[in-house]
Amino acid sequence: MQNVIELKQSKRKPIQWVTGTFVVVFHLMAIWALFTFSWQNLAAAVITWWIAGSWGIGMGYHRLLTHGGYKTPKWMEYFLTVCATLGLQSGSLQWVTTHRIHHAFTETDKDPHSPREGTFWAHMGWILQGTAQNQPEEVVRRYAPDLLKDKFHVFVSKYYYLTFVFVGIGLYFIGGWSMVLWGIFLRQVLGWHSTWLVNSATHLWGTRRFETHDDSRNNGLIAAVTFGEGWHNNHHANPRSAKHGLAWYEFDPNWLQIKFLEKIGLAENVYAYNLEKQMDEAKPLRKAA
Ligand SMILES: [Zn+2]
Ligand SMILES: [Zn+2]
Repeated sequence: MQNVIELKQSKRKPIQWVTGTFVVVFHLMAIWALFTFSWQNLAAAVITWWIAGSWGIGMGYHRLLTHGGYKTPKWMEYFLTVCATLGLQSGSLQWVTTHRIHHAFTETDKDPHSPREGTFWAHMGWILQGTAQNQPEEVVRRYAPDLLKDKFHVFVSKYYYLTFVFVGIGLYFIGGWSMVLWGIFLRQVLGWHSTWLVNSATHLWGTRRFETHDDSRNNGLIAAVTFGEGWHNNHHANPRSAKHGLAWYEFDPNWLQIKFLEKIGLAENVYAYNLEKQMDEAKPLRKAA
């Protein structure tokens, strides 16, 4: 099928202690945050979560860069990319490579995070003991050649953690240490887990509209905490569609914002799967009831 480089994505390795320590420290800080509640701190967490998770990871890394569901002016693409770096999930080259491999080899032994290898593995085991986002250069060259040509993406992928540091310093000056606990640590832990839930939960629990060759599911709860990324069976059936929530009741804030960008002239070539018109082509599952 594809001329594939030997990938050993899902093989368990010894625990990566540096990553593991970071993850543990972040969780402890997130618990500390709970003792320092204020409405300003909550606002800082919500705003940074929205910027990192929705504009960055969902609209930027995922729907724009990985799948090309729409196009934006370069400056806008770069802006969304910088927003995504605030989500501390590696740079664009690495993230896009990992996610394209997930789509190419879903639920096989080359999938970086399939729940068929264990629920915990799919959630965060692959971060602690798997490849995580540490993709070898030849793999990036194979899966993200488009981004590799762009010096900005190469640069940002090297220094992606700086956004996180700068925003942290900014929050410290605005609202002190407790605002850092909320806008950086608590928000980051929630952001990680909600993204990881897309890899674990939406390949395990939910409904299936499309008869895809993987275990992907539509899960409204996960969609609610990922700005619409939880309509994952819709997404695996139609990866390029910038619209993941296909029915009126499938709330998809990332899609609504992409439509808004299109309205104000900042997005074009927006591709959206049309449920009524295209359903037959995609071999939908017959409704059980
Ligand atoms: Zn998936
Ligand atoms: Zn995807």
